[in-house]
Amino acid sequence: MSPAPGTSWDIVIVGAGVAGAMIAKRAGLAGKKVLILESGAGLPTNNNDFMSRYYTAPAKVPESPYTPDIFGSPASGKFLADPTLLNAPRPTVLSLGAQNWQDPTQSYLIQRGPLAFASSYERIAGGTMRHWLGTSLRFVPNDFRVQSVYKQLVDWPVGYSDVEPWYQQAEAEIGVSAAVADQGYLGITFPTGYNYPMNPIPPSLVDAAISQGVDGMSFDGTTLAVTSTPAGRNSQPYQNRRVCAGNTNCIPICPIQAKYDPSVTLAAALDTGNVTIMTQTVASDIIVDSNGLISQINYIQYAQPGGPPTGTGSVTGKVFVVAAHAIETPKLLLMSKNQGRTPSGVANSSLLVGKNLMDHPLYLSWALMPKPVFGFRGPLSTSGIESLRDGAFRSQRAAFRIEIGNEGWNFPINDPYTTTVDFINGINQSGLNPNGPGRPQALFGPALVAALNSSLTRQFRLGCLVEQSPDTTNSVTLAAETDHLGLPRPQITYNLSDYTKAGMIAAVQASDAIYAQLNAQQFTTQPDSGDPCTFEVTINGKQRLIKYFGSGHVVGTYCMGTSGGNSVVNSEQRSWDHSNLFLVGSGVFPTVATGNPTLTIAALALWAANTILTKDLA
Ligand SMILES: Cc1cc2nc3c(=O)[nH]c(=O)nc-3n(C[C@H](O)[C@H](O)[C@H](O)COP(=O)(O)OP(=O)(O)OC[C@H]3O[C@@H](n4cnc5c(N)ncnc54)[C@H](O)[C@@H]3O)c2cc1C
Ligand code: SF4
Repeated sequence: MSPAPGTSWDIVIVGAGVAGAMIAKRAGLAGKKVLILESGAGLPTNNNDFMSRYYTAPAKVPESPYTPDIFGSPASGKFLADPTLLNAPRPTVLSLGAQNWQDPTQSYLIQRGPLAFASSYERIAGGTMRHWLGTSLRFVPNDFRVQSVYKQLVDWPVGYSDVEPWYQQAEAEIGVSAAVADQGYLGITFPTGYNYPMNPIPPSLVDAAISQGVDGMSFDGTTLAVTSTPAGRNSQPYQNRRVCAGNTNCIPICPIQAKYDPSVTLAAALDTGNVTIMTQTVASDIIVDSNGLISQINYIQYAQPGGPPTGTGSVTGKVFVVAAHAIETPKLLLMSKNQGRTPSGVANSSLLVGKNLMDHPLYLSWALMPKPVFGFRGPLSTSGIESLRDGAFRSQRAAFRIEIGNEGWNFPINDPYTTTVDFINGINQSGLNPNGPGRPQALFGPALVAALNSSLTRQFRLGCLVEQSPDTTNSVTLAAETDHLGLPRPQITYNLSDYTKAGMIAAVQASDAIYAQLNAQQFTTQPDSGDPCTFEVTINGKQRLIKYFGSGHVVGTYCMGTSGGNSVVNSEQRSWDHSNLFLVGSGVFPTVATGNPTLTIAALALWAANTILTKDLA
């Protein structure tokens, strides 16, 4: 909907993801008049449309269920839709191939290398968290002071104890299932008497088998332990949503919304009666007045994904919040030049907008256990090895956490489908059907069932999420290439530092050591040398290619800090340059730290909402 012309809002928010929705709900409950500009489609009445798009998608990737369609129409003859022809397009992991990662007709991000940025995000009400896994870890205290403790990276201007009360509120809003008794490791503390909103999701049989083999094992001077993962999914009915049914589909979509996504908070915000959302409305320009305050935001609207613009307009307000995620937020700031009055873009006197792009590069490996562990049950992950998130090694190399997967080899090789087709057709994509003497090339009947039972029940995988260092050379800038609305697309320059690569090497070694400890047979394949997400290293005197995946944890491009010279926003997430502008989301993180980012995004967004409301800014 469009508001009545001339309406002036207390708060204008760009982006209806978790960060924007949390602020909108708090402000709406406080009686503030809030307008959200959202570039993607609105909230559907139910998930059926997403589900059917997913079922019929020719490739099942995190982006598959959502709009605009990432796949080309039959008439186009192209597998992927051309982002040039779409309004508010988004990246997909399907454009990370050697042939298409730098093709602007296949990749929304204009990738300049030398390595590929491997994460994607959404443009839809509810944002990228529609397809998140639900992992809701707190950061460990040393994540906020890596420079002080380890003389590496940078410190945050806030510490764990500052964020802790907001973690509690974020856990309540998301609905996190976990136990305090499990989560008090590496210095994480909770106030006396605090309980998570729900009990933990029960550990899977895969977790139990790994825990039995790994607990107490030593790696790099650290004793390893398997720990239950705090999850943004219901272990009991919560917020009128159902209990997790354990059907292992959390990414890209939970069919029954037992997993939290921000559409829950957004709907509650709209229910306050004080919040209005304009969907398919792309913020295109932030206007600064002669006093240095933000006075309005201009937008472009469209009705169809590839249709012409249907209108333009502007909105005014007292406070402006940009919550468009760590690639679209800097893009919007950089686009807003105010007829040359902000030549480097809005909020950019530090020239740090778009700099320090980070992710958790993920090292994926997979193996067969000696005995069945019965994967493919429960949520995609219920436990991890968190012991390596912090330690003295951080003065030499990046830290990481290890996620334990419950979905067999679905992530690495799309099982159970690949192995089943192998056995039926006598091929060997999975590595599980080698043709040897006396070995039938194709199986059917009881032999097929026995082979599948033997292998699928023993599959599991590990994913190491490595802390990437902030480097100003990793950046988001404006590309010459445009989308269908004529807006510049994000240009990405991306690489991994030696510190990060050393963490990746340790991740490979830790994974190898765990498989050896478990007597598990590893099937991790060597990547192709042309893969843009690979780099060469020497491990134990041998040259080896390491492949990383994106974790979807896009971080760091409008960092918070202690002064306008070293950062874009202060510890309140308020622009140093424009006092009525708040920039929220993971772009404010000075470092990517070692936990998945969203609980911290939500905590900081709730803190920003509190600042806006208690300081009576709106
Ligand atoms: C596969 C995958 C799995 C993940 N799993 C986890 C997990 O388990 N745990 C975890 O902590 N994190 C996870 N994440 C990360 C998580 O999804 C993000 O951290 C989170 O969605 C960021 O929230 P946000 O509100 O900052 O941005 P978003 O959710 O991306 O929301 C931004 C919104 O802004 C809108 N927007 C953008 N530009 C404009 C514009 N110009 N005008 C108007 N609107 C605009 C977008 O349409 C979008 O709705 C995962 C990500 C991926 C990809
Ligand atoms: S396991 Fe199934 S029900 Fe549970 S959160 Fe994941 S998709 Fe939803």
